Amino acid sequence: MVVSFAILTGCSNDPVKNDSSLQDDNNQIRNDMQTNVYFDRVAELGFDTKLMEDNGELVIVEGDIAFKKTDLGIGSKLGKTMQRKVSSLISTSNTNNIRLMVHSSMSGWNSVISSAVSAWNTSPYSTIHIDIVTSSPELTIYSDSATACPSGFQNLASNTCGLGAYSWNDNVGTTISINLDAPYFPTDAQKIYFITQEIGHTLGLAHTNETDGDFIGTTLWTDNNSLMLGGDCGSSKTLSSYDKKALSCLYPLPWGSSFVRYWNPTDCDHFYTAGISEIGYGAYGYTFESIEGVTFLTPYSYSTTPLYRFYHSGITDHFYTTDYNEGINAGYTYEGVVGYVSTSSHTNYVPLYQHWNANGGDHFYTTNPTEGGGDWVYEKIACYLFKAF
Ligand SMILES: [Zn+2]
Repeated sequence: MVVSFAILTGCSNDPVKNDSSLQDDNNQIRNDMQTNVYFDRVAELGFDTKLMEDNGELVIVEGDIAFKKTDLGIGSKLGKTMQRKVSSLISTSNTNNIRLMVHSSMSGWNSVISSAVSAWNTSPYSTIHIDIVTSSPELTIYSDSATACPSGFQNLASNTCGLGAYSWNDNVGTTISINLDAPYFPTDAQKIYFITQEIGHTLGLAHTNETDGDFIGTTLWTDNNSLMLGGDCGSSKTLSSYDKKALSCLYPLPWGSSFVRYWNPTDCDHFYTAGISEIGYGAYGYTFESIEGVTFLTPYSYSTTPLYRFYHSGITDHFYTTDYNEGINAGYTYEGVVGYVSTSSHTNYVPLYQHWNANGGDHFYTTNPTEGGGDWVYEKIACYLFKAF
């Protein structure tokens, strides 16, 4: 640009003008870089870069969808406050039964550690499930002054609140040490905050406000609410919605199907099936009523028991049980496995209550404990379904 400009205008331009043109070129390059950054950010939200135009204050996509550049959180925050991960994540099969032990040197923290564990366990759409155990741990939380605390994690500097080992070799990080001398934990909320962040590191989550680690796609560019912001000892933040989303991106649930409920008043029959592909939102006199929970297509976590579907044409009744012989012995015809469910109660699972209507000949199942009554008499918990979010 500068060269052709010089040729076209000859030698009549003074050096100042040339300098100013050069300045313009640099500004243009800078603008182009900025534009690309904005386009890249919008592309992360699922849009095609080819369909974007820069309109000064806005990025316009597909002609009529506008993003305010100031909302995209780019500028001084470039490369910061993004959900990030390390590359050595936990392998999927090791995510749902992580064994965490609280070392005796931390026994005063039992209840706050249990709250921090619960924060991750209840983060939706993720396979992460941590159990607090008293032997054979994969991850142990120590006081840094305990002699049992591994070297490197011991006797932390007074300005270090604690350390958490990253996930490694397909497994959760093995060690968290807490500097009990640090003046950062006067309240339970601050203790829970810090333990939650250190557990986050052991699960493979890096700091959102540093540039190391890889960006976790589909999470927010700027998340000042992130509990994974580093260098914030003494905070009492809880997991942000994007912290939770980041976890579900790293460790997503396997394929499950909604356990869908239908009702046919003519035949007095409740019918349930996995997903809506079988009869959509209604057919054959059945109308869609609700989604009661989730069944898995393959055994997963605590959902390892098949839920069998049976039918009795004499009384037009669908019957669901985890005991195959129960259906056969009751004179029902076996129709197939709906999906995999749990036979015991766990975090994120809900009981599926079974009711029986002897007058209409109808089995009714619901995860809502306030339903039933009238002709429908409560019988038992048929199984536990993964909770629908
Ligand atoms: Zn940290």
